[in-house]
Amino acid sequence: MKKTAYIIVLCMLTSTIFAQQYTRFECGTPDGAGMDRLIRNINNVNSLESRGVQYLPVTMTLLAQDDGSNRVDEASALDAFCALNENFASIGIQFYLHTQGGFRYVDDSDYYFIGKDGSSNPASIRIPNTINIFVSEVFNGGPGAGSCTGILGFYSPFGDYVAIDKCTVDSESFALTHELGHFFSLQHTFRGWENENYDSSNPTPTTVGNNIRVEFADGSNCAIAADRICDTPPDYGFGLGWNSCDYTPDAFDPDGEPVDPDEENYMGYFFNCDQHHFSTMQGEVMVADIEDRTFTGGSPNTASVTTQSVLTSPINGAISPPQNTVLTWEATAGANMYLVEVNRLPNFSPSFTVHKSVATTNSLTVSSLTANTTHYWRIRPFNEHYVCTDFTEGASFKTDEATAVTPIEAVESFDVYPNPANRNETITLEINTLDPFDAEITLYDIQGRTVLNFQQYFGTGNNLAELHTANATAGTYILKVSSENGVLCKKIVIGN
Ligand SMILES: [Zn+2]
Repeated sequence: MKKTAYIIVLCMLTSTIFAQQYTRFECGTPDGAGMDRLIRNINNVNSLESRGVQYLPVTMTLLAQDDGSNRVDEASALDAFCALNENFASIGIQFYLHTQGGFRYVDDSDYYFIGKDGSSNPASIRIPNTINIFVSEVFNGGPGAGSCTGILGFYSPFGDYVAIDKCTVDSESFALTHELGHFFSLQHTFRGWENENYDSSNPTPTTVGNNIRVEFADGSNCAIAADRICDTPPDYGFGLGWNSCDYTPDAFDPDGEPVDPDEENYMGYFFNCDQHHFSTMQGEVMVADIEDRTFTGGSPNTASVTTQSVLTSPINGAISPPQNTVLTWEATAGANMYLVEVNRLPNFSPSFTVHKSVATTNSLTVSSLTANTTHYWRIRPFNEHYVCTDFTEGASFKTDEATAVTPIEAVESFDVYPNPANRNETITLEINTLDPFDAEITLYDIQGRTVLNFQQYFGTGNNLAELHTANATAGTYILKVSSENGVLCKKIVIGN
């Protein structure tokens, strides 16, 4: 007989409140990272016309401390992933979440502060042949690192992964897109000026930084200067320290010709732009880089999730047992994953989240809720590629009196079959126990009403008991086996 885990333990994730504040993204990718690949890719570019959409596997690792704390909010990670696919759509590159169940979770304080002295290098836990994105808090020697200022992301050319601070993981920031540009060998449009200040009162030098040629306004040296990309105009680091998307001060190249940067380029440093883009050649270079890499991960589900989910139960304040609340909803077309959130407040304030996890079916059992309390829940359907659908409206339920939930230790196995069952089918409860015990058996419907209740003795060894459910209507039920030593629970579904 199949030994089933009968107490579902789901970790309680408590999110912290993030003040909505303007965070200026600064990149810690070392100058020249992937430069050899860039030069090779430039020599291998092909037109992107008539090229179809290519799907690339991403391992998005959401790091937490040892105790599971401080992880980025999954909804923010989905928002950022949605934006990433939108930003790469025009060049026919799309990403999908390669990990079963969406995100990869690593709870390890040694890895949590990426780049901090003494921290473990995430390169050692990357998943090969996928694009590895690590989300936590980034330390990279920048000012104020770890406090949502300074360097908030980087591409490691040695580890071939992207690290991104959770502060800049949302639907608005282009930080992730910028770092993926580095991953695919792109340099900053202002390459060479990362640590230099342009000064219009002095002649513009012909080289900056680590002996990098300054790009001329007429493009005459574009193939060997700055980012080596000829359809991005010169940028002498104008974005850093400039807070609008329209750069207006006079600036001149080494020949004294006026320079006008492309403020909306993803590989620049301008902020507060309504939109950003990659140039045509940047797109071609990235595709050449992809063609030189090996990706494995199978074919993603590429359906869109365009309809919103319908929450089925419990809703409208229905009563639910706190130790096992079974949340059910209608399967959503195109979706194979659902981010499920249970919160104490109807506005789903992050600091009142009591449960959040990804379900891969249209039902989830949440344990250990507070008794006698109103809760609110909602879901966000998605699949490995399409993650842009928002949460449903919230629904409410109320937990009833708590009963202690300790498993009956002597029980070796606990099964109910058939499950799901048809309406007039006999349902059998099978328990194998090392020690005998007396139990009260109760079947509750989803509103918490008792539909069946009887006493049963279980002797040492295997025991069968019949559940008389002939009068039960179709729906989801909770079976509870209570003894003085503990409680066993199982969800039972009765069909039509
Ligand atoms: Zn950068």
